[in-house]
Amino acid sequence: MRVTCPIREGAQRHPEAEALRFMGQSWTYRTLDAEVARWTAALEARGVGQGDRVALLSTSHPMVTFLFWALGRVGAVFAPLNARLTSAELQPLVDAVAPRLTLALDSLGDRLSGSLSLESFPEAATASPTPLRAWEEDTPRVILFTSGTTGRPKGAVLTEGAFRASCRASAANLGAHPSPRWLGTLPLFHVGGLAMLTRTAYEGGCLLLHERFDAEAVNRAIDTEGASYASFVATTLERVLDARADRRLPDTFRFALIGGGPVPTALLTRARAAGLRALQTYGLTEACSQVTTERPDEADGRTAGPPLPGLEVRIVGTDGALLDVGQEGDVEVRGPTRMAGYWNQAEATNEALHDGWLRTRDVGVLDERGRLTLLSRRTDLIVRGGENLYPAEIEAVLANHPAIAESAVVGVPDPHWGEVPVAFVVPRPGHPLPEDLDAWCRQSLARFKVPTRFVALETLPRNAMSKVERTVLRRQAMS
Ligand code: AMP
Ligand code: MG
Repeated sequence: MRVTCPIREGAQRHPEAEALRFMGQSWTYRTLDAEVARWTAALEARGVGQGDRVALLSTSHPMVTFLFWALGRVGAVFAPLNARLTSAELQPLVDAVAPRLTLALDSLGDRLSGSLSLESFPEAATASPTPLRAWEEDTPRVILFTSGTTGRPKGAVLTEGAFRASCRASAANLGAHPSPRWLGTLPLFHVGGLAMLTRTAYEGGCLLLHERFDAEAVNRAIDTEGASYASFVATTLERVLDARADRRLPDTFRFALIGGGPVPTALLTRARAAGLRALQTYGLTEACSQVTTERPDEADGRTAGPPLPGLEVRIVGTDGALLDVGQEGDVEVRGPTRMAGYWNQAEATNEALHDGWLRTRDVGVLDERGRLTLLSRRTDLIVRGGENLYPAEIEAVLANHPAIAESAVVGVPDPHWGEVPVAFVVPRPGHPLPEDLDAWCRQSLARFKVPTRFVALETLPRNAMSKVERTVLRRQAMS
């Protein structure tokens, strides 16, 4: 199907509706369209056209959105890079996409050799852009590097159609809204941030863009800027709730989506008790964000919900055979939001995609109502004497200990059991490593799940996406 730029469509249909807000500044669809036109002309002046890649190193900023929509208009592919990476980590990603152009925020430019200033880029515009054309839905729109840290970098190629399908599927679950206002606190170099950016545009809503996550700013946007939706991970939801204390939530706020990693049921219960309707969601870069999300009318925080309308989820065994309801195995996803493949990586693409299905490398289980529970990433699973142990389950028990701030449980080789769980724990400030951890775990966990060792750490090693680096811990546990 041929489609055209939603910002231009918005400028024609509702020119004075608010489209974007950032640090007190505001753009309507009309003024946003004018900015995008200027950036489109600048891209054309630099010779960027159909199929070219443009790499970007930036934190969240309105200029990123101008560039994103302008790239769509010239048919080029957006390759955003994680702003927390070092030069050494960035270079292989840039090499992999072989961009026509590399742009960087001035303050980050010294990390990327050969990059042009994002701030001065629109000055390249010499003439008006060529008239807007329509383009095919299967046009690659974005290359997004996943947070994986092993092997060659893998860039998931997401098409225009995948973003549109994801937007439709999400809206079908959350219900119609005349002009949704999405809180944009997830980075725009992550699929979650891009999902919010695109969703608001396709629905004619407004993106409340934040440069970084700040719990007070989030609460202000909820209380005074009419935010209707937000997406959080478990730790940011916790900070938002802490900062809200007993303040009532306004009726303008509809739902918060919580995912990106294990979500403790207790946290969702706490959110709901505070009046914040939080829905657990499961998604991944390769499926353009949400795959399953709790249905608003039956959310209890216990599962990650059923697949969004139009998507399918199945569980298969390690031999590839289809498993039944209640059986634990590998999660596979099918539907129009699936990535086209990994950029220039035929082998990795063939491993991930087969017969229309995406292998997620996550382990989970479906219940009789089609709702998914995530148990672990395949690589984090601990197999002790043939029994599967899920780090998230053990970590949830440790998190309830009053003297523990956070923890990560990893499997280490063991001559007798094959693998045993070792817990790395970060005590709360001022606390030593508690001595009762073994007994604490035994109260709630079967014996075989109790870690064989508890190691105190000041902080957990995290990668640029804030995910715990379990390979680092595994190495430490073995040394
Ligand atoms: P990314 O690799 O950055 O695209 O993040 C996607 C991964 O985050 C998934 O493959 C899961 O391992 C994890 N994830 C996302 N949502 C959930 C959830 N609700 N529960 C557990 N893990 C999740
Ligand atoms: Mg991943």
